[in-house]
Amino acid sequence: MKLSHRITHLTGGGPDGWDVFYRARRMVAEGHAITELTIGEHDIPTDPEILGAMDASARGGHTGYAMVPGTDLLRDTVAARLQVRTGVKTTRDNVLITPGGQSALFAAHVAACDPGDVGLYLDPYYATYPGTIRGAGAIARAVETRAEDAFQPRADEIEAVSDGAVSLLINTPNNPTGVVYSAQTLHAISGVCQRRDLWLISDEVYDTQVWEGSHLSPRAIPGMAERTLVVGSMSKSHAMTGSRCGWIVGPTEAIEHLINLATHTTYGVPGFIQDAASFALNAGRELEEKIAAPFRRRRELAMQVLSAQQTVGLIPAQGAMYLMLDIRATGLSGEAFANALLDTHAIAVMPGESFGGAAAGHIRVAMTIDDDRFATALQTVCDFAAQLAANKGAA
Ligand code: PLP
Repeated sequence: MKLSHRITHLTGGGPDGWDVFYRARRMVAEGHAITELTIGEHDIPTDPEILGAMDASARGGHTGYAMVPGTDLLRDTVAARLQVRTGVKTTRDNVLITPGGQSALFAAHVAACDPGDVGLYLDPYYATYPGTIRGAGAIARAVETRAEDAFQPRADEIEAVSDGAVSLLINTPNNPTGVVYSAQTLHAISGVCQRRDLWLISDEVYDTQVWEGSHLSPRAIPGMAERTLVVGSMSKSHAMTGSRCGWIVGPTEAIEHLINLATHTTYGVPGFIQDAASFALNAGRELEEKIAAPFRRRRELAMQVLSAQQTVGLIPAQGAMYLMLDIRATGLSGEAFANALLDTHAIAVMPGESFGGAAAGHIRVAMTIDDDRFATALQTVCDFAAQLAANKGAA
């Protein structure tokens, strides 16, 4: 039977740069001891207090269909959170609860794009972005950012390729680069969106993981609330990746239509998950800081290790749970370096090329193992790079 073009072309075909990751996973399954610094998952489980709230809710009977837009409590909680962060009046009518940030990204693009419209995104990018845009029926068009700009986007370059575009997807703090967009960058991007009449889809799932500078949601920028769809999630802020709970915050009219979409796709998020999320968000900053603390610590450790050598460059590690390392001094591509590192030192990292052409010659290191092993692994990465660079010089 023929399958739709939309689904068969979702991934764009060709190598996706995830070979190293799958090879490492196979090696682990075969019993090899591999240090995995690949995916963005905490090394702690969901906090017992959050699980307690989930359990109490489920046992209290909140196991039937929940309201499709989300429970009033969670929508109000998310609205209050966004209002505090942006200064823009936000009510439950601005909020749709979704099964995680990923489905929010998809729904936001369905809301913004008609088939054949162009959806812009920035390279390097979180792995699902182009497929998400294509899945919504739009044409995914990448705009490269540059290592020499610390991967801060250049608004004029976005504007230059915006013909036919109806949306722009951004992510700050950024996966994979670890960069936090400056206020200047975000104001310039907002200017482009206003001039070119674009929806700004703002993926803010790492907004509690900021190590340097501060997070600015573009919803806060004058004239942007009516054209911004903020994507948020409990996954990273509260180590609730498996709970699948996120949201879209946007103009009420967009949310009304997005509720219709949810009725015809996800039909909501389990009530006991939403109650756990409400509990977690209302537990305040302290809990978020506890969950972010290991990454903050490991980033400090990384800065110490990296400052003692010259071969590996660090893209400013301002936020999120990743480091983007420049290994171009070794003469290898990110992919060749990652494969060699796995073979010789049993350490798995993601090649920059997994996240698009702009991150070629880089590797992404997830700070997701305990501090001692993390520091040792990073030292090994640096020593290995230095050895490769020296051999290259000698050759
Ligand atoms: N956006 C970014 C940038 C991510 O890194 C991730 C997950 O890694 C997501 C969205 C999706 O997160 P979730 O669907 O778990 O909320």
